[in-house]
Amino acid sequence: MIRDVFKEDEIVKEWKAGKSDRTMPIEDLFLLIRDGFKNCDEHCVHRERYGEDACLCIRELFPSREFYMLYLELRDWYISRIAERIADAIIGDVK
Ligand SMILES: [Zn+2]
Repeated sequence: MIRDVFKEDEIVKEWKAGKSDRTMPIEDLFLLIRDGFKNCDEHCVHRERYGEDACLCIRELFPSREFYMLYLELRDWYISRIAERIADAIIGDVK
């Protein structure tokens, strides 16, 4: 349940625009990049109203949308690096 929809709309708008002074330690960001972030997977009114990338669970963890986008990008990079290493380990010597 969203307690105050108008207030929440405003909070989401500011979160997306990155207007708050909130930040997060780079170590925390990289922990998420390494371990992956799991969003709430049950029915969620926040996700329904604000979209997949502005759900409350995401907004609680990431100081602004920019941080979340950075996470997505680096997580992709991290996964592809792992895939590369696995591929190297399996077929690296075959050429
Ligand atoms: Zn969520």
